[in-house]
Amino acid sequence: AALDAIEASQPTINAFTHVDREAALSAAAAVDAKRAAGGRLGPLAGVPVAVKDVLCTRDMPTTCSSRMLKNFRPPYDAGVVERLRAADAVIVGKTNMDEFAMGASTENSAFGVTRNPWDTTRIPGGSSGGAAACVAAGTVPLSIGTDTGGSIRQPAAMCGVTGLKPTYGRVSRYGLIAFASSLDQVGPIGWSVPDVALMMQTIAGYDARDSTSLNLDISHYTEVLSSHDLRGLKIGILRESMDRDGVDDSVRQATLDAADVFQSIGAEMVEIDLPHNDYWVPTYYVIAPCEASSNLSRYDGAHYGHRTSDLSDSDKLGPLVTTYCRSRAEGFGDEVKRRIMVGTYALSEGYADQYYSQALKVRRLIKGDYDAAFSQVDLLLGPVTPTPAFPLGQKVDDPIQMYLCDLFTVGANLAGVPAISLPAGLDASGLPVAVQLQAPVLEESRLLFAGA
Ligand code: GLN
Repeated sequence: AALDAIEASQPTINAFTHVDREAALSAAAAVDAKRAAGGRLGPLAGVPVAVKDVLCTRDMPTTCSSRMLKNFRPPYDAGVVERLRAADAVIVGKTNMDEFAMGASTENSAFGVTRNPWDTTRIPGGSSGGAAACVAAGTVPLSIGTDTGGSIRQPAAMCGVTGLKPTYGRVSRYGLIAFASSLDQVGPIGWSVPDVALMMQTIAGYDARDSTSLNLDISHYTEVLSSHDLRGLKIGILRESMDRDGVDDSVRQATLDAADVFQSIGAEMVEIDLPHNDYWVPTYYVIAPCEASSNLSRYDGAHYGHRTSDLSDSDKLGPLVTTYCRSRAEGFGDEVKRRIMVGTYALSEGYADQYYSQALKVRRLIKGDYDAAFSQVDLLLGPVTPTPAFPLGQKVDDPIQMYLCDLFTVGANLAGVPAISLPAGLDASGLPVAVQLQAPVLEESRLLFAGA
């Protein structure tokens, strides 16, 4: 049924870069055979799951929606993919994304844009736009996204589904193609909080192959969902940040309404501020491009990635440099090139102290704001995005406007804390609006409990 639904929606939504019908059917048949033989079934037995095309899969292409990796078939599975298979999930395919996860609208893909199932003239958010859209379209109940600066939460918000960015280090990054290594995290997108909790139970945990993986026991994410009594919980509402210019009334109202709901079931609501909020986007857009310029240097047409077939005029620069320049010019899209140039500049001699080192210091202050806030409250409540889903094409030629979409999401990545995007109703034109909860490190259970 999932495969048929994907096939029917693909021409309009374009959520997938690759669907492997045969592999999915044989994985499902293997689960059936295991059941018939009386075998012990995993917690996701037979559940169709979609995986963002930035995670390595040994039986499917892994492209990062880039021409650079168009023909890449990894020889191994990402840690998360291994865990999904071990839980007997059925991986149906790979989902579309902004190239190398850089973007907020899924318009930066070499495979064409993904459309929002609620209104196909609008973007689904990004960079995990395909992963959110396929869940919103009802084709699969669960998908895997990645979040470097909001890429799980922002598309989940715009598509009216639930998305969790775990604590940095909670879910393995082994086999995740790196964008900005100190910010990247893998996490679930689903129809509901219980579904997301079940997926989290499956994918979280230590992986020795990821040097930043946390070697700590995981919580029982599904067990916290039975109680709906929030007495004793103190929630800080990020009032000042949501009263800024450019924040849609529907978003502000949804946050205030959510605060009322939390209060009505026992939570104590207080107003709180993260004072360096103004510096989140500038700090992120130095650190993320710096790390990206370093991570993406491996795609040179010799070691990795697309290799140009045009070596004409190579006598000027020599065959090696010509290969390098042309392969990268042909393989990468505009936004990826922009990030590489910004990052290379900000890391270069004479500028690194002014930009990169400075950004790291501000990141420390931002983390300090979170520490101070969480010494007073258990959770933070605020918006996910300044506006609901915007029309396709509206911001694609204006990078600054696109970057400002990340106003509420990049803080959690800079501080390494977990955060969840929760559907919170529809605006006047019927588009989904969401709210965000953020928690101290490793308190995913608290997010899931309050979110449910
Ligand atoms: N929109 C942000 C960016 O373009 C976030 C991307 C992400 O989380 N992968 O960098």
